[in-house]
This record gives sequence, C-alpha cells and structure tokens, in this order.
Amino acid sequence: MSGSGLAVYAADDVRSRGRRYPEPPPQYRSEFQRDRDRIIHSNAFRRLAYKTQVFVNHEGDLFRTRVTHSIEVAQIGRSIARALALNETLSEAIALAHDLGHTPFGHAGQDALNECMRDYGGFEHNLQSLRTVDELEERYALFPGLNLTFECREGILKHCAVSKARELGELGERFVQRRQPGLEAQLANLADEIAYNNHDVDDGIRAGLITLEEVAQVPLVQRQFDEVMHLYPDLQGRRRVHETVRRMVNVVVIDVIESSLARLQAAGPHDIEAVRSLGAPLIGMSEAMRAQHLELKQFLREQVYRHQRVLRMTTKAKRVLSALFTAFMDEIKLMPAEHRDQAQRAEQREGIAGRARTVADYVAGMTDRYAILEYRRLFDPAERT
Ligand code: MG
Repeated sequence: MSGSGLAVYAADDVRSRGRRYPEPPPQYRSEFQRDRDRIIHSNAFRRLAYKTQVFVNHEGDLFRTRVTHSIEVAQIGRSIARALALNETLSEAIALAHDLGHTPFGHAGQDALNECMRDYGGFEHNLQSLRTVDELEERYALFPGLNLTFECREGILKHCAVSKARELGELGERFVQRRQPGLEAQLANLADEIAYNNHDVDDGIRAGLITLEEVAQVPLVQRQFDEVMHLYPDLQGRRRVHETVRRMVNVVVIDVIESSLARLQAAGPHDIEAVRSLGAPLIGMSEAMRAQHLELKQFLREQVYRHQRVLRMTTKAKRVLSALFTAFMDEIKLMPAEHRDQAQRAEQREGIAGRARTVADYVAGMTDRYAILEYRRLFDPAERT
C-alpha cells in the first residue's frame, strides 16, 4: 500500500505517463477524475443513450442501451478495483469510455461497417473509441479530442492488430511486444464481459427469446437458480429472474477478486511497469469460473444473438449501415457540410481511404434512430429530405 490507500501496482495519477498535450494539473480533482469528467461531458457519451447493445432502441424502454451497459461495466469495475486497492476512478473512466466508438445497431453495425471499410483499413470499434477520444470530439481550444491520460487511453484500446498497433506509437507498443496494460485496464475489460453476459440473460428473458428455466441448464446459472428456488420456492416472474442474475454477478465478481488477489500475491509486481512487462494479465477469473462463463457466452450466442428475431433485426441493421456508407461514399455532398468538408480535406491528404474514413466516422457516430431516419430520408421518395 502507498500513502494514497492504493496498492503499489495500482495506477497513480502522480506517476501517470501523462497526456498527449501537456496541461497544468487540475485543482481539487485527480488526473483520472478529470478524464472521467471529460468523458461524461462528451457528445459521444450522450449518444450512447440511443445506441443499441443487443436490442434496437425502439424495441422497449427497459432493455440495456450502450449507456446503461457502460454504467453497469463501471459499477462492476469499481467494486473490483476497490476490493483490490486499485484506482477506482481510472477503472470507472475506462469503463465509461470503452464503447464510445461503437456504431449504431450493436455488433451488426460494427460488422457491416468493417465490411464497407475492407479496402480502406477496416473498422474496429475499439480503435474507434480511441479515435473518438483522441481526435473526433471537438470541445477544447488547445487540442483535438479529450486529451485523456495515457493510462485511460491504454485501457480504452483493449485489442489491436499488430499492423495497426505499429501506427499508434507508444500506445501500440504493448501489442507489438506482447506486454500487458495496467491492472485497471485489465479490470475494465473483464467487467465488460461480466456485465453483458449477465444483463443479456436478463434482456433475453425480458424479450421472450429465452426462459429462465432454459438458461438454468447452464451450470453457472443453475447453481444460483437452484439456490433461489430453495430459499423462495414460491417466487415467480421478475423477482425470480433478478434474484438469480444478481447472484450470478456476485459469484463471478467474488471469483475475480479472489483469483486476481492470488495471482497478484504470486507475481508480486512492485509497480505498474512490472505489471505491464508480464506475459499474461493478472486480473481474471479462476479456470473453473472462466469455463462456466464461456458456456454461458456460448448459450447466449446460440439462443439470443442468433435468435431468428434478433437475426431479422441485425440483417436489416447491416443493410441500413451499408446503404448509408455507400451513398455518402459515392456522393460526399449528401453529408452535412462539416462532414463533407472533412471528407474533402482527408481525401486531399490521404486519397480515397481518407474519404472513406471520414464517411465511416460520420456513420459510426450516428445513433440507432438517427441512422434509421437518415436511411428513410435518403431512400424513401415519400420522405422529406
Ligand atoms: Mg461493452
């Protein structure tokens, strides 16, 4: 433990690797609090309210959106960070920012845009989250983007192909050298998986795609379901679902805390650089829990994400995004003037790939409902333009 109550291997803003554009330190806030505050005030964060996780925004008000998903990730991440004496504020900031680059319509949108961008460097939502905080947000006089700390940016960039990583300088080094990010970044990544695995059970049941009894065939769910039925044999409906799901989150979180503590004690890193130089992450589930978690993920893939009703929606979503991309790519003047000018400048600088990247930025930034509206305005002759 250091004087701040943080473990020696936690990220500490006094020893941060800093921001791309140096700034005076904030008053009454830590550097990571400033990161978090900038993320919350960004345009991209507000747009998450109208972006889908699995279900399209208009299907119902109770389903998770990207913003409620991000808040759940932050909540799980903060609990684990605090238990491990890691930097809770940094975990929260990374969690709130991790999906800022997501396209409309969840993974279907990302796949469609990646396909559209195949000849122009591809599209990956992690890289886009980083691009959003580094370049696309326009808020400050002295720098583009939000100028976040290195530690927050390394957490946002969860995955990266080595070829891309080489273009990213200091931030990409770890993918080339196969090193690890700080523990708060490892934690936010895991909290993301825990959050969606569990909330997608809840949303899947709410949508009527699966029943609690069906998902209780998966061992991770079964133990919790059996306990709930043993304690409250007459419990029905929403309460029975919630009592089960909250126990699922709890056992996974406790497993992560205990397994990670054991690994931290065994490895004994003396600072964040020692954590970064290791060959494998230290934050994680036990082997047994990981296997069970994967089983649940597999169940969700087959029974929820590939459910006929979801497939019908995702197929439509892909068609909408491809059509928008192609229309703007063929005629950049169809975009608002600001984006058209950006596309022109990017094309002068980088050729056709520059134009494509600007179009992808515009399409990726759309909310579900804006994308649907734009599609109608562009393709439905009866609609006002
Ligand atoms: Mg996520």
